[in-house]
Amino acid sequence: MNCLFCSIAEGNIPSKKVYEDELVYAFYDIDPQAPVHFLVIPKTHIDSVAAVNEENSSIVAHCFEVISKVTKEMGIDSFRVVSNCGEQAGQSVPHLHFHVLAGRDMTWPPG
Ligand code: AMP
Ligand code: ZN
Repeated sequence: MNCLFCSIAEGNIPSKKVYEDELVYAFYDIDPQAPVHFLVIPKTHIDSVAAVNEENSSIVAHCFEVISKVTKEMGIDSFRVVSNCGEQAGQSVPHLHFHVLAGRDMTWPPG
């Protein structure tokens, strides 16, 4: 499958790495929406939150462990995690990813 984030996780497209282990890859967003903005993705392809199921949900839990660990290591104690799911919600890359945003005041509700 021709998937941008699979290619990034495989190292075939360059990215600015934040964290990596056998299951997860994290890298800075190319178009940051906050002073800190990185993405956490499973290395295996999952389309979106809508495709999370019994078989693959442990990797999603692991993504959140990584978010907790990496933000702590960065000294960030307030941050937002976003996963856009589907076109209307603004998903532009069809490979599950969690945006981690920090370093500025966040509005609620989101636009
Ligand atoms: P979404 O629009 O929620 O699907 O998020 C996709 C994100 O991927 C956007 O914030 C983009 O700026 C980001 N993005 C697209 N291409 C790259 C890339 N090559 N490297 C890093 N981030 C990217
Ligand atoms: Zn993919």
